[in-house]
Amino acid sequence: MTGLVIVGHGTRSAAGVDQFAALVERVRRRGAVADVEGGFIELSRPPLTDAVGALVARGHRALVALPLVLTAAGHGKGDIPAAMGREQQRHPGLTYRYGRPLGPHPLLHDALEQRIDAALGHTRAGAVPAGADRAGTELAAADRAGTWVALIGRGSTDPDANAEVAKVARLLWEGRGYAGVEPGFISLAQPSVPEVLDRLRRLGARRIVVAPYFLFAGVLPDRIVAQSAEFAAAHPDLDVRVAEVIGDCDALAELVLERHAEALGGDIRMNCDTCAYRVSMPGFADKVGRPQRPHDHPDDPVGHHHHHGHDGHDHHDHGSVAVVGGGPGPDDLITVRAQALLDAADVVVVDRLAPQGLLAGLRPDVLVIDAAKVPRGPSMAQDAINAALVSHARAGRRVVRLKGGDPYVFGRGHEEVLACRAAGVPVTVVPGVSSALAAPALAGVPVTHRGVAHDVTVVSGHLPPGHPDSLVDWAALARARGTVVLLMAVDTIAKIAAVLVEHGRPPETPVLAVQDAGLPGQRSVPARLDEIGAVAAAEGIGPPAVFVLGPVVGVAATGPSA
Ligand code: SAH
Repeated sequence: MTGLVIVGHGTRSAAGVDQFAALVERVRRRGAVADVEGGFIELSRPPLTDAVGALVARGHRALVALPLVLTAAGHGKGDIPAAMGREQQRHPGLTYRYGRPLGPHPLLHDALEQRIDAALGHTRAGAVPAGADRAGTELAAADRAGTWVALIGRGSTDPDANAEVAKVARLLWEGRGYAGVEPGFISLAQPSVPEVLDRLRRLGARRIVVAPYFLFAGVLPDRIVAQSAEFAAAHPDLDVRVAEVIGDCDALAELVLERHAEALGGDIRMNCDTCAYRVSMPGFADKVGRPQRPHDHPDDPVGHHHHHGHDGHDHHDHGSVAVVGGGPGPDDLITVRAQALLDAADVVVVDRLAPQGLLAGLRPDVLVIDAAKVPRGPSMAQDAINAALVSHARAGRRVVRLKGGDPYVFGRGHEEVLACRAAGVPVTVVPGVSSALAAPALAGVPVTHRGVAHDVTVVSGHLPPGHPDSLVDWAALARARGTVVLLMAVDTIAKIAAVLVEHGRPPETPVLAVQDAGLPGQRSVPARLDEIGAVAAAEGIGPPAVFVLGPVVGVAATGPSA
């Protein structure tokens, strides 16, 4: 059962809070969603945390969070996801799907049209006359052809959000017969209200309806009224009226339900092509890749010590890559963070040694790419994998590169990170439980033990000693006394053991081969160092396997749970 939490950003206007509450109630009354709550991320009550808390208390663990915003600016892109992130910390296991901002949408354009008509035809009921001297004036029928509309948006430091208002202005003009519709902004962006009104005046407008592109009453819509009235007073020859905000209405409730259904359907994409957090735009270059910080809600004790950056799954997503360690093999040796990223992934590029069982838990629409089967020769495979990561992320998808163990332990993880960085794709690394430490542990061997071993060295055995490309100082490892864990050494173990003995490791040093650690077929085979090559071959030890050698192996053999 999914609950719907409608998230507002809050206002100092009591009327605005009431309209928000009325809309939440209207959505609830429609009965299309089982359980609905509304909350604010700042300024107003109830705070989001109460709304989410109420839904959680009624048994919901999966929510749709719908940002009640017209355009995706800072609140929709960063603040609301951050606030939801805090709720997830508060309620472990809580998941949510994030809905799309409301506009642009025909339902909103129709609502705006009605508010404009009301301003033209019914000044008493439907609109606030901007010129005080004209209070009570009745204008007979709407004369759209003689009416210019100034559509006033909130205004943002995010050019993409401002461009949305321009788009709505155009859509509002198309086919509705107004003389023209010009966008303007009440804060942070130009043209301002007086500027756009003056522009219309110079275009020859005699009658102007100022239409606030706002959901509810608030400080900014009040300011639109005040600035329009001031302009009207200075230009008595003009007929300037201000329409009502969209407000609580059936169209808005319907749109909320539509966005809810869309979020449940699972394919929400914000428009990222022109997002200043992603692409460098003139004058906004400093925004690219900048983390979007949450606001503090006065009632929220959690504060903003934690926030989700560009790598969070619940963030406004531009496509990203997470290079994730999946642990040694069992489904439940993956980290919580890695699991959360998998849950949110659109594409999973998986290695042969990554926990295959986790794939069964992915949503059915997730694209799973088997990296072992990536076409082209082995030397090209890594390039092909890198290219796949980059291209899916660039297409706006959340890509998880799921690797066995830890991505930075012989996993080529950093090559993938570098490829993403070079391509400008946001990339994050999630450490994993490496088989180097987990396989011995799962076989009962502590890689360190007090009084027995104070060092453990993890070594790749993929190249035999003496190989010209080898970077390992085998003689030094032979002289050392501690634990050595060999990975990728099934084919080379005999040669490695011989060199270690040759350079001074006691031939009786205990070794344990551990194959398929953590998996149903896990087995381990013990031998002396001078015999491990022959024993492993005779026992048919095959990959994946680690060899752990050193006195700790003897400790394990004599310990209680060996
Ligand atoms: N990044 C991985 C290692 C990749 S190299 C990690 O941190 O675990 C691949 C090697 O890992 C294999 O050759 C084998 O030596 C080891 N390995 C991986 N999974 C294993 C498992 N379940 N049991 C034993 N060895 C494993």
